[in-house]
Amino acid sequence: MLARKRLILGIALSLILILSGITAGLWYLFFHGLSPLSRLVLLGLGVLFAFFILIALLGLAGVVLIILRHRPLPFFERPVRILITRLLPLVMYLGRIFNVAKEKLERSFIEINNTLVRTRAVTVPPSRLLILAPHCLQYSGCPHKITVKVDNCRLCGRCQIKDLLLLARELGVQLAVVTGGTLARKRVAELRPKAVVAVACERDLTSGLQDVYPLPAVGILNDRPHGPCVDTRVDMERVRQAVLDFLGRPDPKGAL
Ligand code: SF4
Repeated sequence: MLARKRLILGIALSLILILSGITAGLWYLFFHGLSPLSRLVLLGLGVLFAFFILIALLGLAGVVLIILRHRPLPFFERPVRILITRLLPLVMYLGRIFNVAKEKLERSFIEINNTLVRTRAVTVPPSRLLILAPHCLQYSGCPHKITVKVDNCRLCGRCQIKDLLLLARELGVQLAVVTGGTLARKRVAELRPKAVVAVACERDLTSGLQDVYPLPAVGILNDRPHGPCVDTRVDMERVRQAVLDFLGRPDPKGAL
């Protein structure tokens, strides 16, 4: 788990070092020769890069400190937000240049996101908690249209939509089944939850969690025993634990 978190933090640090090198080069050029106009452009770029690096370093330090101290640190809130929403796409890109598998990077990000959310210890009323599930959890032969209305599920038990629906009804939380990132964002905008438990694959979770940040959202990866996007599964115990955490109810089996 720790190694997974370190992966993306390490690449973020590498990115900051590369940007620092570029900035040092810009400053060097500024002080050595070139026309006044070129120097002015270099000065602007140098200041911009230096500012970006400072924010990125603060964001990185914030993430590490929050994880180590297991509590939110308000001073780092904005830099962490910028790091997650702006810098991470660059980190992902750099990771791929370093030949790190995309899924590994995405899992690392999801792990960090979940830890940051847990340190905030957010609790919300059941009606403001949304479970977002992917359409691929539904049995591929099921004729019922549950993306429009999840209550259309007949609870036959051929897939885990039944389990999710029963869990949502038992705890009084909202449940939406979506076909992709666009619909997920639409549902979040419509239902206006105060917290989200999202189930999806690495790619959808990574983009979705970044999109809704800083809305507290825990990501749970689905299992794909039949390959991607068809008849997927999810560990229901993890979903239940995440929901109970947000509801502030006792968690008999420990953290997620
Ligand atoms: S549990 Fe619901 S969604 Fe799944 S196959 Fe049965 S009716 Fe369809």
